[in-house]
Amino acid sequence: MSQKFAKNLLITGANRGIGLEFVKKLASRVDILFAGCRKPSEAKELNALKDAHNNLHVVEIDVTCEKNIQACIEEVSKVCGEAGLSCLINNAGANKKPDNKVTELSLDDLKRIFSVNTFGPPIVCKHSLSLLQQAAKTHSDQIITKPLIVNIGTGLSSVSRMNRDMSCYYSYNMSKSPLNMFTKMLSLEIEEDGIDVIAIHPGWVQTDMGGSNATLTVQQSIDMMLETLSNLRQEQNGTLINFKGETIPY
Ligand code: NDP
Repeated sequence: MSQKFAKNLLITGANRGIGLEFVKKLASRVDILFAGCRKPSEAKELNALKDAHNNLHVVEIDVTCEKNIQACIEEVSKVCGEAGLSCLINNAGANKKPDNKVTELSLDDLKRIFSVNTFGPPIVCKHSLSLLQQAAKTHSDQIITKPLIVNIGTGLSSVSRMNRDMSCYYSYNMSKSPLNMFTKMLSLEIEEDGIDVIAIHPGWVQTDMGGSNATLTVQQSIDMMLETLSNLRQEQNGTLINFKGETIPY
């Protein structure tokens, strides 16, 4: 078995795509894994995984609803106790059909996508922070990562790299750029607590969001992200990197 990745870990959007694959790869590498999704009773694959992994808890979390986030973190806190939460992966994300032109923007879609991609991670962090701080106090070197917040970002959030050849989804790309600022600010705020914060681009991945033409399978993406996250250097704290660990400029 590979070295333990984290003690206790929560991931959002775990019922399909990248989130589900993280759960498959991490279930045997953490003590307790909280797989968050909007509708646990309908999360067939996650519930099937519980048979093989009795450390897997499928928990309800809709990242657009603060009360729901709070209730989820209370549940996580009760199970983790003194150990706290050593890793949070903000993975849940939303997209829409291409809106390549400003005239194609829809206020309803913008609000929906920003609610998930822009506002979700900071509010999940707000409610999880005390559990991460608790974990930082009891961190052991036997575990591969320092207490860590992982924000699943995208290269499409990079203002300096944007050009017309890149996929121009106004709503999606705009919604992910603020995650970079949040990652940086939070990393500065909690550096002294011994908690790292990173935004990571998973590559173009074959999921419902990435589509079937994407260049990476979910297995390839998660294997490379886990390798990268296991070998983070302190100077990467607060930055946006890709699945190979290379810096993506904001
Ligand atoms: P999918 O569309 O396959 O999965 C999205 C996940 O997010 C689902 O589990 C979905 O749950 C969940 N989700 C959506 N809205 C909410 C919400 N309000 N609360 C909680 N969960 C929610 O996408 P991917 O797996 O491809 O994407 C995962 C992350 O990776 C996203 O943040 C995405 O932006 C990012 N990413 C993906 C890339 C790719 O090529 N695939 C490239 C770059 C970044 P439900 O089933 O309930 O809708």
